[in-house]
Amino acid sequence: MARVLFLGGLGRSGTTLVERLLGELPGVRALGEVVHLWQRDIVDDERCGCGERFSACSFWAAVGDRAFGGWANVDVERVHALQAAVERTRHIPRLAGGRPPADVARYAEFYTRVYDAAAAVSGCEVLVDSSKHSALAHCLRWASDLDLRVVHVVRDARGVAYSWTKTVARPEADNADEMTRYTPGHSALLWTAHNAAFGLLARRGVPVQRLRYEQFLAEPRQALTELAAFAGLRVTEPDLAFLGDGHADLTPGHSAAGNPMRFTVGRIRLRRDDAWVSALPPRQRALVGTVCAPMLRAYGYPLTQRTTQEA
Ligand SMILES: [Zn+2]
Repeated sequence: MARVLFLGGLGRSGTTLVERLLGELPGVRALGEVVHLWQRDIVDDERCGCGERFSACSFWAAVGDRAFGGWANVDVERVHALQAAVERTRHIPRLAGGRPPADVARYAEFYTRVYDAAAAVSGCEVLVDSSKHSALAHCLRWASDLDLRVVHVVRDARGVAYSWTKTVARPEADNADEMTRYTPGHSALLWTAHNAAFGLLARRGVPVQRLRYEQFLAEPRQALTELAAFAGLRVTEPDLAFLGDGHADLTPGHSAAGNPMRFTVGRIRLRRDDAWVSALPPRQRALVGTVCAPMLRAYGYPLTQRTTQEA
């Protein structure tokens, strides 16, 4: 049975960074955002984190052979149809209830086949899927033969909102494309809905560990050790040698899809991105702060700017 650490939360919450650091631990294979594998990789043949086109990456070729007898055998139209039918935020109340429609199990099976094959090909005990989508996590809850553990990554909603206003290119599409942008009001609503959905998942008995982005960057060594323990791994001091004082050394990975940071190799600074504190206009900050106030408080985020910087 594959053991999967699913990184959940609204985009721009630091999940890619968490995934990259987890991927440096022995016994862990980071897969990227598997939710996008069907279209962006199988159909569009975008780049793997290792820099190769998906079709030219030997890791993913071996996974596809083992899971489906080759990626060409995956009925992507069928995956999309199932996805549209079951994996929607509006379906979460139904997914969180009693027995869901059979399509949920059928949809989840596409993922478990990828996970099982990735575990066998990599020889790793733990796979990381940074798909983020709360509806997908609720679908995977119904998968048979899957050891699903969810890391719920939260970041201050005002930082998330600011990040969603910025333009980010997608290098995997050779810069022909940009990542989606949202207005602060829209991202505030999404932030609340997605985070509430992960709270619901925990109440349904799925192991969920909450991780604050800001705390992760304040003490990455401790945070990673705790995440590894949650994943059932024991981390020793030499396993964390890639972590330095305020930086980390990244080796190439095989993330199938996700934030452009998945291509970064070498030394990166581990520094909290607090640009929003000065760059998010006061009216927008107030709007996001008001919409998200109950959950910001629940997660321990002070609502005033000064104390937030100290959080
Ligand atoms: Zn690769």
